[in-house]
Amino acid sequence: MDHINLLLVDDEKAFLDTLTKRLEKRGVTVTAVYSGKDSLEELETKKSIEVVILDVKMPQMDGIQTLIEIKKRFPLVEVIMLTGHATVETAIDGMKLGAFDYLMKPCDIDLLLSKALNAADKKKIHEEKIMEARIKEITGRRV
Ligand SMILES: [Mg+2]
Repeated sequence: MDHINLLLVDDEKAFLDTLTKRLEKRGVTVTAVYSGKDSLEELETKKSIEVVILDVKMPQMDGIQTLIEIKKRFPLVEVIMLTGHATVETAIDGMKLGAFDYLMKPCDIDLLLSKALNAADKKKIHEEKIMEARIKEITGRRV
């Protein structure tokens, strides 16, 4: 499996700790935080994070508020919304606001990984395009 660097954000500690262990067993680099506010701090310090798995329903800063803030400050980081049946509509709204995809709880680990890998690929392609555009701009000016 390709290596991947994930940030998990969920206020349910037991759920998050179990998910973290299961992902680490598969060789995934995982950072786990319990609030939207903490997720922004982690993204600020850990530039290697590629994909955020973000719970929709959280106290204080909820998933949508967190998503908007992540996309504003770290536009290239991909976000996958994590939702229960009651908040599927919110997760879909999240996709309109720039989330890559959403996952239903309890989440299937293989599905989570395949979506996260696709999201990381999208980020890489996006970054390469930006790099190419910059190179074109620089070489264009030299002519
Ligand atoms: Mg929650």
